[in-house]
Amino acid sequence: MSYTNEILKLVKDKNPGESEFHQAVDEILTSLTPVMERHPEYQKAKILERFVEPERVIIFRVPWLDDKGMPQINRGFRVEFNSAIGPYKGGLRFHPTVNLGILKFLGIEQVLKNSLTTLAMGGGKGGADFDPKGKSDNEIMHFCQSFMTELYRHIGPNTDIPAGDIGVGSKEIGYLFGQYKRIKNEFTGILTGKGLGWGGSLIRKEATGYGSVYFAQEMLATRNETLKDKVCVVSGSGNVAQYTVEKLNELGAKVVTLSDSSGFIYDADGISNEKLAFIFELKNVRKGRIKEYADKFGAVFYPSRKPWSIKCDAAFPSATQNELNENDAQLLLDNGCYLVSEGANMPTSKKGVDKFLDAKILFGPGKAANAGGVATSGLEMGQNSMRLSWSSEEIDTRLKKIMKDIHDTAYQASIEYGDKGNYVLGSNIAGFVKVADAMLDQGLV
Ligand code: NDP
Repeated sequence: MSYTNEILKLVKDKNPGESEFHQAVDEILTSLTPVMERHPEYQKAKILERFVEPERVIIFRVPWLDDKGMPQINRGFRVEFNSAIGPYKGGLRFHPTVNLGILKFLGIEQVLKNSLTTLAMGGGKGGADFDPKGKSDNEIMHFCQSFMTELYRHIGPNTDIPAGDIGVGSKEIGYLFGQYKRIKNEFTGILTGKGLGWGGSLIRKEATGYGSVYFAQEMLATRNETLKDKVCVVSGSGNVAQYTVEKLNELGAKVVTLSDSSGFIYDADGISNEKLAFIFELKNVRKGRIKEYADKFGAVFYPSRKPWSIKCDAAFPSATQNELNENDAQLLLDNGCYLVSEGANMPTSKKGVDKFLDAKILFGPGKAANAGGVATSGLEMGQNSMRLSWSSEEIDTRLKKIMKDIHDTAYQASIEYGDKGNYVLGSNIAGFVKVADAMLDQGLV
């Protein structure tokens, strides 16, 4: 058995039932096999054994009172995965499916993603099995306050700086920040994604979606192409999906789908900025279902389905993990899709990824393509430390440069390891080597 296979077996044995974590580690280790052959010093120092083990995992009870005065109990988590190159950094997810395995997969992906951004950030992830859907503002606030009443003792501006993710937007970040400040009596940048008036950064809310489109632009540039007039399918209709559509429109592409957990809409005329304004209001203010878009604009609604059967040039999966399986990948390829940029984390199953790699299409894995969000969080941390704010133009310019650098670094690593244009290989290797070298330098910790 190869060394990397031994590590995968170890991970599966030690973390039973954590299928998403196994999937993420499997993909990473497949890419790292040639690295381990070139770097015997990593194996000698057991870097991989350490790399797959989070530095710290915190699990805690979150009790709160609902609007009827009834006690509710949720489970909260923070996985502090790796701090070799900087303080832990990564989002909080509030969703009923949240469990330790999902947060460990997100955490290890975050370690590599943050390393790729060129900023000094380690990786972490957290959240709770709390479902914000159908909860009043009051209930969300009570939940966030209780969650932070435990989390505050584990985080800090030089220790661990959480951000948002699924179910955690600017409102939740506000409630969490307020409670931290109240307990600690300190106004410090312990969260990113903050409101603009109290330490937030311009372009943070746009950054993941914009960044995923910038990454797609860079991949196309290797074939001397642009996004103009490309037909695109986007999944999800939350933060990442919304700003993916906005940037694609700006660049002259035509987006024909959006989705949520109830199904997807297909609008052959394209989701113009005017129609996108309706989505912003529907999803961010009224918290409604995507079908309302079809009712309003005469588009088609496909209940309980995903948009991968729609003919397109480019796909931007931007909802959640494993939303695109091998059959979906085949459908996309059969219909002529030749670019996939993952706005979500691990939206494509392992067999789906293999299909894209075999077909040699332009495939940008989430840890590279969606790194614009955390990169801009890194810029927010920088502005907080200096107590100043940069303009939108300045941040957007930095974001574009970071996405280009991530692209070029992953591309170069793919060439160096003999599989030009394989961004999965390139981003896993480039992200890992930087962290592994830092771990070697810092001794057995
Ligand atoms: P939001 O909560 O804003 O939106 C999530 C979207 O995905 C909604 O349309 C939601 O539909 C859909 N969705 C969520 N869970 C499921 C599910 N189990 N099945 C089907 N649809 C689902 O989250 P974000 O846009 O912030 O995050 C989307 C993805 O991008 C996630 O994978 C996240 O980890 C990743 N990401 C986000 C970053 C950020 O900056 N926000 C940074 C990097 C990655 P519904 O409303 O019906 O649940």
